[in-house]
Amino acid sequence: MNIEAKELCKIYGKGENRVAALNRVSLKIVPGDFISIIGPSGSGKSTLLHLLSGLDRPTSGHLTYDGKDIYSLTDQELSAFRRQRIGFIFQQFNLLPVLTARENIIMPLLLDRKQPDDAYVEQLSQMLGIQDRITHLPHELSGGQQQRVAIARALAAKPDVIFADEPTGNLDSRSGGEVMEMLKAVREQMGKTLVIITHDNRIAAMADRQLSIVDGTLTEVAARGKTTICWR
Ligand code: ADP
Ligand code: MG
Repeated sequence: MNIEAKELCKIYGKGENRVAALNRVSLKIVPGDFISIIGPSGSGKSTLLHLLSGLDRPTSGHLTYDGKDIYSLTDQELSAFRRQRIGFIFQQFNLLPVLTARENIIMPLLLDRKQPDDAYVEQLSQMLGIQDRITHLPHELSGGQQQRVAIARALAAKPDVIFADEPTGNLDSRSGGEVMEMLKAVREQMGKTLVIITHDNRIAAMADRQLSIVDGTLTEVAARGKTTICWR
């Protein structure tokens, strides 16, 4: 999918509490892109990812997926669009504690009353190395295993694009490295578009396009195989 964000602004609160979290952010994402967005804490990274993935709406600005205006959808239509077309990976995994790994993975399909594709779920579990943990509850899994279950869940509905918000932020460096290798494999073997947020330079450098965000302003700092593009 071609994703295009135009002049996204996000202001939280009013009066003394007013925070301008994003300042006229424009970005084009083409199929197969691997993008990293690096920035310090509070710079607007999560806000941007939530807007790009339709988890939240901007104060002003537009977002299209293949030319379709996403923010003109109702909340219900937007939730369905997200479940079917977009995968999201959170820093805190966000697994449901009372469900097994497998139940967590297929949850997005059940919400859409779709029959899970057993062979595909099996393929995902093998690829992510969680096939022998599939009947375990989240608290019986390590952090790295929980995040791998969350990656499988993000892929369950076969979305074209995956957004990951500091996916290794809660992991030790070894499990974090494993999770990054798996995300790279997901992109290379399955051809998914991957947009990953990080404050780790080494992770940012793995991407083909590296963007940086400071005080809500986004800049493209490097694109692999191309000359450095900067705007603003
Ligand atoms: P990052 O993910 O880069 O740490 P965020 O996007 O979470 O940054 O936040 C950007 C700015 O917006 C911060 O100043 C933060 O305090 C503020 N902010 C984020 N979410 C809210 C909210 N729901 N209400 C008010 N301010 C918020
Ligand atoms: Mg954040």
